[in-house]
Amino acid sequence: MFALQKRHTFALPTSAKELIEITDTEQLGELRYTPDTWILGEGSNTIFAADYAGQVLVNKLRGMVIEEADNAWLVRVAAGENWHDLVVKLVHDGMPGFENLALIPGSVGAAPVQNIGAYGVEIATFIDSVNVYDLKQHRQFSLSNAECEFGYRNSIFKRSEYAHWLITAVQFRLPKEWLANLTYPDLAVLPQQASARDVMEHVIQVRNAKLPNPNELANAGSFFKNPIVSKEQYAALAEQHQDMPVYPVSESHVKLAAGWLIDKAGLKALRIGDIGVHSRQALVLVNHGRGTGEQLRALAGEIIREIKRIYGVDLEPEVRVLGSSGLIAWQ
Ligand code: NAP
Repeated sequence: MFALQKRHTFALPTSAKELIEITDTEQLGELRYTPDTWILGEGSNTIFAADYAGQVLVNKLRGMVIEEADNAWLVRVAAGENWHDLVVKLVHDGMPGFENLALIPGSVGAAPVQNIGAYGVEIATFIDSVNVYDLKQHRQFSLSNAECEFGYRNSIFKRSEYAHWLITAVQFRLPKEWLANLTYPDLAVLPQQASARDVMEHVIQVRNAKLPNPNELANAGSFFKNPIVSKEQYAALAEQHQDMPVYPVSESHVKLAAGWLIDKAGLKALRIGDIGVHSRQALVLVNHGRGTGEQLRALAGEIIREIKRIYGVDLEPEVRVLGSSGLIAWQ
């Protein structure tokens, strides 16, 4: 048995039957894929809610190559590198673009999986291609940006039929022509001529003030995705909730703020055992120390049911929560 508490930032005291750290691509050819294989980076978007009966592969591949093209920087990074360290390095070395995405926990390989985004920037904008190792057929290939099927906190890598694809590296393209993206309210206080370094430092400051540090209070960032609903559904909701925040997504759909829904539903103080809703950000669930997988399932289930009952809106976890043999189904 391999302890998982320190392998995922929600820090539940669970274990895995098998665990292998991948530090060299040479190891990949030796691996035996089983349907209960789970690929892990730094465990900031996966929660092991029960003892896992399968094998966990921890991606620890390291390395980075930077090339200069006429109009852009081409950056190839191994999947096991730390995301925030990459952001800091590139901004400090004069290759801006990722500054709004500072302090997102996790590895580089996890970034395309859920198309990480913050403060109006999504990583999909910068991804040229993703290198994959197919653990079933034992072959390597590369997926173009379009082939990754990026969506809102989503990509082809989240689909269960591709669970045997291990991301080995990501190729980013950072255009040299750069403009600060200050569209979100938290960044609007900065002047338009702010440097990428200014933006990054501000993002770090805001995130540190609002979001719990997983090293101090175990959490996995936003637990739920912001729900996307039709404009008709929103119009009906807005009649009853005039102050409900809403953001455009497409001609037909809008995005609601899940944190606002949870807060207004009076669920911010909700706590079951040692699992609770974070006091400053209702979108984040926290483990106060001795939480269990059962408590987490009960609390998240209660939130999903209440939001459906009050607003008729389906909340969907952004975090991937695993039971003993695979992903937990919430609906
Ligand atoms: P916030 O500024 O309090 O805003 C609440 C929500 O409203 C956000 O989730 C954001 O959606 C949306 N929003 C705000 N301004 C918007 C705009 N101008 N256009 C479109 N949507 C807008 O959010 P927060 O909790 O402090 O988070 C700030 C940013 O960091 C957000 O982008 C958030 O997604 C990101 N973040 C992500 C995680 C994670 O674990 N995935 C954790 C913490 C923060 P979006 O989420 O779609 O941006």
